[in-house]
Amino acid sequence: MRRVFDFHVHGNFSYKDFREVAFNVGIDFSLDGLLREMREHGVVATAVISLPCGGYWSEVLSLKNCFYPIIGVDSGCLDLGLLDSFIDHVLGVKVYVGYDRIDPRDGRLYELYKFLEDRGKLVVFHTGSLWRRWGGYVRYSHPLNFDDVAVDFPELKIILAHAGFPWVRDAAEVAYKNDNVYVDISGWIEESEEVSEYYLNFLRRELKFLVEYCGEDKVLFGSDWPLCRIGRYLDFVMSIGFEDDVLNKILYWNAVRLVRELGFKPP
Ligand SMILES: [Zn+2]
Repeated sequence: MRRVFDFHVHGNFSYKDFREVAFNVGIDFSLDGLLREMREHGVVATAVISLPCGGYWSEVLSLKNCFYPIIGVDSGCLDLGLLDSFIDHVLGVKVYVGYDRIDPRDGRLYELYKFLEDRGKLVVFHTGSLWRRWGGYVRYSHPLNFDDVAVDFPELKIILAHAGFPWVRDAAEVAYKNDNVYVDISGWIEESEEVSEYYLNFLRRELKFLVEYCGEDKVLFGSDWPLCRIGRYLDFVMSIGFEDDVLNKILYWNAVRLVRELGFKPP
């Protein structure tokens, strides 16, 4: 079986909104449910993202071994002292600027980027479309915003989550142009959606363009579980017909390289 490293999974099993979404489509949103799906699909490791707020952090920080934590922060109330107390245990932080209605070039966030760059950590930005349930300003999650951050913090590793979907081509340019920028391809399909072959073909063309334009070394597989089953998302990516070595990089080796560069032991 192909080895997979899923770089975008949510681990706050107590979080109401995700519990509801998962329940409605029959996904077992629990640690057991996650481990079962991982086993079924050859997923040997996941980057587990926590929602902002301290209460959610401990739930993700307690996951060990094949789980690599990324901690969500609230751009409106950053506490770098608190972050410093556990930063060694995480790959980096996730920032939800669109949902938080804050410009990613805001001075408060620049302090965070400087902190992360100094500590050799990565920043994951939610980019592209916003979940209607949460609202927010989509102009702040447009991928072009993050070119400024990439240029101003050249040593900071940046992941554009969801590859800026539907502005995939803009995200592709930002990742192509900046050595320190990667994209994850999670979140294009939700489990609750019936997806037509016509729409699937559109998604396949976008993903193919992304990989060809910014290069397969910059693209990380992510499923956005529990918003989509890992198996279904893997089937989508594998249906595109990438060469084996390209697919293996996207599904596994790019993530392995990244965690190693961040000073973690790969799976
Ligand atoms: Zn997500």
